[in-house]
Parts: sequence; C-alpha cells; structure tokens
Amino acid sequence: MPPKTVACINSTGRQAASFIRAASAVGWHVRAQIRSNEGLVAEELAELSNVEFIEGDLTGPDRNRLLAGLFANVKIAFINTTHWGDEVAIGKACADAAKKAGVTHYVYSSMPDHSAFGRGWRALPMWSSKFAIENYVRQIGIPATFIYTGIYNNNFSSLPYPLFQMELQDDGSFVWQAPFHPDDPLPWLDAEHDVGPALLQIFKMGPSHWKGQRVTLAFEKLTPIQCCARFARGVGRPVRYVHGPIKIQVTIPSGYREQLDILQETLGDKRAPYFPGLEYPREGRSIWEGYRGIEEYAREVFPIEEYANGLRWMEEGVSTPSEADTESRPITPSGVPAPVRFSGAYTPRSHPEGLDNDFFVGSM
Ligand code: NAD
Repeated sequence: MPPKTVACINSTGRQAASFIRAASAVGWHVRAQIRSNEGLVAEELAELSNVEFIEGDLTGPDRNRLLAGLFANVKIAFINTTHWGDEVAIGKACADAAKKAGVTHYVYSSMPDHSAFGRGWRALPMWSSKFAIENYVRQIGIPATFIYTGIYNNNFSSLPYPLFQMELQDDGSFVWQAPFHPDDPLPWLDAEHDVGPALLQIFKMGPSHWKGQRVTLAFEKLTPIQCCARFARGVGRPVRYVHGPIKIQVTIPSGYREQLDILQETLGDKRAPYFPGLEYPREGRSIWEGYRGIEEYAREVFPIEEYANGLRWMEEGVSTPSEADTESRPITPSGVPAPVRFSGAYTPRSHPEGLDNDFFVGSM
C-alpha cells in the first residue's frame, strides 16, 4: 500500500485537478473519480504518476457503487461537488460513503449561505447547497475541514461570459463591469495554482489541527478597483472598473441566472460581505506562501488562456503606448517573451461538455 491514498471527485475540475497535481508530485496515490477520460485535463492527469481513475457519473444510478470503490481503503479525501445533478444528494452520498469506509480526514469545499446571518440577505442557491452539505458532514461526524474558495483569477475572460468579462475595448484596453461596490473587498484565489499546495498542507497538519474548522482559501483581499489596478499592471494595458449590472450576453441555464440575480442583489445592492465572518487572506497565506496573485495571473496566464480560446488581442498593440506594454506576448520576469502553449491552459475547450454549451462550464 502506498504511503498515502487520497480520494477526489470531479477530478477534472480546477480545484481537484490542482490538488491531484500536487499530491502526485509528492508521491501520494490518488483515487480520482472522473466522468469521462476525454478532454485536455483528463489526458493530462492520466499522464501523472500514481493517479488511478474511477470512471463514472455521480449523477447516475451507479453512484453508490462508484463511491464504494472510490473510498475503499482510503483514509483521506478532498471532495468538491458541483451544480451538475442534485448537488446535495451527491454531497450526502459522498459523505455517507466516506464515513462507511472510515475516512479519518475529509476536506469538503463549501460556500456560505447568506440567508443564515439574519440580515435579510437571500441565499445564493449554488452556494447554499454546499453549506447544506457542510452541515450534513458535521452532523454525521466525520473528522472534516471545510475550505471556502475565493473568486478564481481565471474566471476572467474577454469572451462574453457573465460577471467576469474583461471586455476588450477598441483602444486595446479592458473594462470589467460588475455589481460589486468599487470599494468592497473581495477574496481572490488562483485555483489551479494554489488549491493543491494549500490542501497538501492542511492534510499534513491533519484533523487534530483542522477538525471542524473553516479555512478561507483566498490569498488576496482586493476591492474591484484594486483588482483592476493589479490586472492592468500585469496585462500591460489599462483596465477600468465599471460598477454596473451583470451583463447576460450568452445563453445560460435558468439556475445560473437565478444565482447571478441573487448575487447582484445580495453582494451588490445590499453589499453583504462575500464571505461573512470569515478571515482572509492571513490564514491562507500562513498555510501556503507561494500563491499566484492577480497581477502575476494577468501577466503570465491570462494571455495564454485567451490565445487558447482563439483570441488574438495579445498580438496587437494598444493605442496608449505610454501606459501599455507593446510586446505581443506575455513577458516573463527574465524579460523573455513567454512561449504560447496550448496544453494546460484552462479554457472552455478543456472539458468535452464545454464544447456543447454556450457558456463556460467553469463559471462560478
Ligand atoms: P470546474 O468549474 O473547473 O469544472 C467543472 C467540472 O464539473 C468539470 O470537470 C466537469 O467535467 C465536471 N462535471 C461534473 N459533472 C458534470 C456534468 N454532468 N456535466 C458537465 N460537467 C460536469 O470545477 P471546479 O471549479 O473545480 O468546481 C466547480 C465548483 O466550484 C462549482 O460548484 C462552483 O460553484 C465552485 N466555485 C467556483 C468558484 C469560481 O470562482 N469559479 C469559486 C468558489 C467555488
């Protein structure tokens, strides 16, 4: 038996994939549930050492058998449910299977339920389902830790997806329009870069340190104005924040529209904190110091992801050269233009289902 075996679900998602890369790199064995072994991320994970796929759909009738296989002889698990299927039923089934298998440290990726604070805030439905699962995990008594993941840096795209569109302007600059008050702090996370190493540390310190705790994985606390200033420095172009309603320019599922409407009301109009009562970024940084901030993301990753999405703005200059970086490619700290890579960049095309949908499956 290898020294440590860890179970994950939704392994091609950004959170789990980040953890699997880190766990495999330090020699842990990973039991990884995936829906399909097609797609860039699945192909990449298949190449890693010590990663064993459990292939099957958690939304289907085979769920309990799949989960029994996933957790057999496993003592630690990282579980991130998604909104595909009945999230609460899947979350409860995972917790039940982990308890049955005797898992001794269960890390669940949760989110807040704003309606629980008695302030007249409505619950964001895609978040409160995770909070209901957190409560269930607490109830059945598995030694567990709950991570609260901030806004992913790579939600930003110049494609017309709602909420985090960095809209390219005719002069080559960008505009981000969102309902968050310009001065309200928001939690930021580079999920692909930082979930993995932070989770490794949480697992190493173990349940004696983290049992029952909530840990906010957000390594920067920035208002929209501060975020745009750093993004501008990174991408080498002006970035302006517009405080305004969420623009819906592509077809989105009705559940996602409801999520966005309530987000606009609760976090925008009512100015509820994104993570009420949770501290960040001090605790996250004390767990993992090597995080990737939004400026580094905008400099080193954003242009590559955009290129992989078929966009070519990075090859054109901007009409305000004094403020802008006139190089056509992202520049590394050594001053060498970064090569444009295709694999590893997270794009709608990273997942087979991304091709069938008119919106990014990774949207929050
Ligand atoms: P992701 O968005 O990177 O990828 C989604 C994954 O869901 C893919 O791997 C896809 O294969 C999988 N999937 C599972 N069942 C599916 C089905 N039936 N149809 C299509 N795809 C299916 O994943 P992630 O970011 O690791 O996790 C997503 C969860 O993270 C969501 O619940 C979201 O609310 C939450 N979250 C997102 C943010 C953010 O800023 N984007 C922040 C905090 C939490």
